[in-house]
Parts: sequence; C-alpha cells; structure tokens
Amino acid sequence: MRVELLGTSGFHPTEKRHTSCVLLPEQGIVFDAGTGMFRLTSRLRSKSVAIFLSHSHLDHIIGLTYLLPPLCDGTIERATIYGSARSIGAVRDHLFAEEVFPVPLPFEFVEVTAPVDVPGGGRLMHRVQEHPGGSFGYRIDWPGKSFAYVTDTTADGTGLDFIRGVDLLIHECNFPDDMRDLAVRTGHSHTTPVCELARDAGVKRLVLTHFDPYAALDDPVDVRKARSIFPATEVAEDKMVVEF
Ligand SMILES: [Zn+2]
Ligand SMILES: [Zn+2]
Repeated sequence: MRVELLGTSGFHPTEKRHTSCVLLPEQGIVFDAGTGMFRLTSRLRSKSVAIFLSHSHLDHIIGLTYLLPPLCDGTIERATIYGSARSIGAVRDHLFAEEVFPVPLPFEFVEVTAPVDVPGGGRLMHRVQEHPGGSFGYRIDWPGKSFAYVTDTTADGTGLDFIRGVDLLIHECNFPDDMRDLAVRTGHSHTTPVCELARDAGVKRLVLTHFDPYAALDDPVDVRKARSIFPATEVAEDKMVVEF
C-alpha cells in the first residue's frame, strides 16, 4: 500500500507545506482537499477519484475548486465527494455558490452514513469526532492491511477502538505540548496525547500531520518528545511517500 502526503499544514500554506490532502494513488482515494490538491492530477493513476472529506473547514475543501481543469479536459472523468451531510451541504451551497466560484463542477456527492466498499477489497468506516462543526475520522481495512486518517479533533482517547491495531495511522498534531490550551480551544491535538493514543491503540506506525503554520518549520511538534512516547513516529512532509 502506498500513501502520498500532498499537503501537511493546517489552516494555511507555508513556504514548506500546503494544507491537508492525502492520496492513496493505487485506489484513487483522496482524504481532504486542501491546497495540496493542486498536486493531485499528475499523481493520480485512475480516471476517477473518490474524495473523502474529514469536514468542510476551508483548509480541507478549497482544493476542490482546483479540479476545474482536469474535470473539463477529461483527465478526471468522475469525482465523487464523500462526507457528512453538513460537509456536503457546505461544499455544494457555499464553496460552489456562484458568488464564491464561477463554474459549477460535475461532482457526485455521497453522504457517508455506513461502511463504504473501496478498491482493493477494502472497507472504509467513519467515526464522528469532536471539532467545531464536527469532523469524521476514517479507517480502511483491506485483507491484511489497515489504515486510518484522523484529523481536526482532540486526541482525547475516545477514538482508541476505532484506530486499534492499524498498520498506518495518519493523525493530526496541530500543536506542540506547550500550546495545549489553544489545542483544546480550537478542537485540535497536541503531541503527547496523540503519541499515547497511538501507543495504547497498538498501531504499527504513526505519521503526524496538519501542523500549525506558525510552528517551527523544521520541528513543529517536538519529534524527540513524540518518539520518547511512541518510537515509530514520523513527521509528515509535503510530497512524502509512505509504503506500508
Ligand atoms: Zn484543519
Ligand atoms: Zn477544522
């Protein structure tokens, strides 16, 4: 299994990072549509793409508008957007309102209310998470492999069973520990609880992402601290490829 991190920042892009976008190229699956979405077309191996939104905050949906050229020239023939009813409504009614974006795009919209079968014999499940406006965490189980994508929520331990034992967990870590109060106030995670969650859930590997754009560019969340709790921790970089 292959995962490509197309955007790893929260809130807004930085000189080094675009906002959240994660590609599973072999399956034609994308999680979130931040500004990193501009990197999708050259990396996509299929004519169709399934985009699963964690939620509809701007840093996770703005990149949907970037699909105008590939959808018009036929590079992408079919794009389906999956998410909560609220997220789909926000995208359809606000992001693609004529006052915000000039051209309607031929997306299909699917509200996620139950497990979804995905390419490769996989089964995708979602979990409702705490975050302003709500968010979804996602997990896919294929025969012999598993993956979870959890962003825009606090690592309060309530999602432990959902991610239990996955081969690869991509989890947001918007803040280092010394910004705990801001993490709680904004519905985000900080270093120690994320790494404890990965350890307690028995995941194999942890990739941290969705970093505060005002954090240190080279070490946004204190990777030494993170690895002291969960050694198999990596810090996501844009264009990073993870094989698992
Ligand atoms: Zn976000
Ligand atoms: Zn958010």
